[in-house]
Formats: sequence, C-alpha cells, structure tokens
Amino acid sequence: MGIGVRVRGPLSGEAAGEALRLAVVALVTWYRREGRALPWRSDPAPYRVWVSEVMLQQTQVATVRPYFDRFLCRFPTVTALAAASEDAVLQVWQGLGYYTRARALHAASRRLVAERGGELPRTVAELRRLPGIGPYTAGAIASIAFGAREPVVDGNVARVLTRWFALGGDPRRQPLQAQIWSIAERLVGHEDPGDVNQALMELGAILCTPRSPVCAACPIAAHCHAHRLRAEVRYPELAPRPRPQALTMAAGVAWRSGRVLVVRAPEGSRWWSGLWHFPVSEVAERERPVAVAAAAVGRALGRDVPDGAPMMRLCHAVTRYRIELLVFSLRLEKKEGARRCREGCAWRRPAELEGLAMPAPHRRVARAIGLAPPAERGGSCAHPRRRLRISGA
Ligand code: SF4
Repeated sequence: MGIGVRVRGPLSGEAAGEALRLAVVALVTWYRREGRALPWRSDPAPYRVWVSEVMLQQTQVATVRPYFDRFLCRFPTVTALAAASEDAVLQVWQGLGYYTRARALHAASRRLVAERGGELPRTVAELRRLPGIGPYTAGAIASIAFGAREPVVDGNVARVLTRWFALGGDPRRQPLQAQIWSIAERLVGHEDPGDVNQALMELGAILCTPRSPVCAACPIAAHCHAHRLRAEVRYPELAPRPRPQALTMAAGVAWRSGRVLVVRAPEGSRWWSGLWHFPVSEVAERERPVAVAAAAVGRALGRDVPDGAPMMRLCHAVTRYRIELLVFSLRLEKKEGARRCREGCAWRRPAELEGLAMPAPHRRVARAIGLAPPAERGGSCAHPRRRLRISGA
C-alpha cells in the first residue's frame, strides 16, 4: 500500500488475506443471488458490455436501459455500428447526453472493423488504445466480457471501498485514488473478476448508497470498518464540487411556410457539437433575450429579422452549467425565406425534426412545436399551454 492513507482493513498477513477472501466470497454470493437482471448481464458479449459501460458513464441504470435496448436493436454488432452514419448514431443516442461518448464509440467501431475484423481486443492495454475507452471501461470490458483479472473503480466502487476499509481522503485525488485501485486489484484475485467488479458496483448502487446505506442487508457488514465505527456516511470524504455556473441562452424558432429553421453545430463547437438545434446564443448581462434570439436567427439566414414572441422557458443542466433556455417564436414572411439559408442550416417541417439528432432541451422545444399549430396559423406562440411571460423580452 502507498503512504499517506490509513487503511483499517485486512490487507496483509495470512489471516487477514483469508478474511478478505471470505468477504469477497460473501459479496459475490450476494451479487449472484440479489443482483438486478440487466440485459448486458444476461448476455455479457464483449460488444454489449462495451456499449453498456459507455452508456453508464455519468448515467443511471434506469435511464440507460431503454437506450441500450434501442441501440442494440438498431446496431446489433460492431460491424453494423461501423457501417452507420454518425448522424444515425447520434439520433439513437439523443437524450442520453454527453455525445462525445457516442462519437467515440462510433469511431472505435470503425477502427475495429478496419483493423481487427470487428473483434474487440481482450487486454486493458489494447482496449485503452481505442477512442473513448479509459481505465474504467477497459477494466470493465476485460473482466466482465473476457474474465481478465482487472479491477474497475467508479464512484460506486470508491464509496464501498472507502467505507469497507475506512479510508480517509478524497477518492478522486491522489494518493487515495491509486490506493483504491490497488485494493480493487487485490479483490479480483479471489473470485470471478467480472462478478467481483459487478458485485462492488451493485453494492454501491443499491445498498451502500451515498446518504442512506442499508447496512442491515449488506453482505460485507461484518467486515466493514466504517460500519463498525458507526461512521458509514463519513466516507468517502469528497471535496465539495464547485457550484454550477448559471447561464442564460435565447433560442429562436423561426417559421416560414409551415417549416422551422434548424442549424447544425459545427464539429468541435462548445455546445452540442454536430447536433441540430434551433438558432441559439448566450445572453450576456444587459442584453435583451428576445433580441439575442432574433440575432441568432439572423446570423443563420444572413440578414436581419424582426423580434419574436415569447414561447417557452426550459431549465437544463449540462456538465457544470445550469442553463436557462428562453425560446421565442418568430414568424417570417414568405419572401424573407425565399433565399437559401447558410451552410449548416435547414428548413424542416415539425414532423421531420424527429429524424434529426438534437440535444435534449431543443428536442423538448421540437416536441412542443409538434403539439400545436405553427405560428403562421396559430399566433405568435407555438404552444399556447406553455405561453408565459419571459422577463427581459
Ligand atoms: S456495511 Fe454499510 S457502509 Fe459498509 S459496505 Fe455495507 S452498506 Fe456500505
């Protein structure tokens, strides 16, 4: 073990090693009996494990399940995924967020088909050479799909291990981070490594939860040092995260002849790279949101357009931002839309928006549009039930 963190658990000596083995057996026995039945567990084929682990990054199991089923239905193999366009992949992924994961998955599938006949490599070192696969995902694929003795540490596992061994310090930082990986490595030596890793993750997800651990039902309660100290929720000692940054954005839903204007964010752009959305811009202090929305539409069309009318307001969290999105509906005259819009823009009927990959908040706007007549026929607000006053408009 490294220096700097006090470990109270049984990690050295013959008796301690045996106690650790018994704890791991109890943990894995519990997991095999009580673990949730999930589609990637019932059939842990390498491609399925890979897709599930990528989807589960930053995302809850309940959210991932329907996406996993849809994704596997649409792209059942590495070859099918590689043959798809990026648009098609993003379209199935939309709503799950963190779209760089989908792009990396797609890019990796193409490399696998080009270089390995669509086969995933079996070792952590080779897996990590693929786009989007870090130590966690590589360990999960290698252990669960191929039975390699590789540890896996995510937030759930870190919480369980800091409690089990009463480890002080922030597990996201060194030296504790390295020590947790080292303990996890010891644990996978005692049982089927895929099951050990999944048992730790499952324990953290359903019993050893952040605020209310259910120690009475825990298979390793007799071995858990935080439990013995009655100090379960003291661990892990996470440093507070910075407060999310508030951001206001204004979007314009511009109508012309029953179609709405959408733009595609250029690759590598700060927001929603490669996805379709309504023209949008950040609102700086003292700017009028309605004017910002009109300017965003105007930039897409290459000319000035009149201000719109308030349509709806959404709140959405993206990474470290809490975004307030103010949406305005703009009715353009037919002659104003006669000119083609700039590259990366398109006029689409509301029903056609379902076929575009859009970020979650813009998808909600698109769905609201589909529920009500367009502005030319129905007035200035595309969804009367959502009509509201937007301050600063
Ligand atoms: S005994 Fe409680 S704190 Fe310890 S690992 Fe189990 S659920 Fe977590």
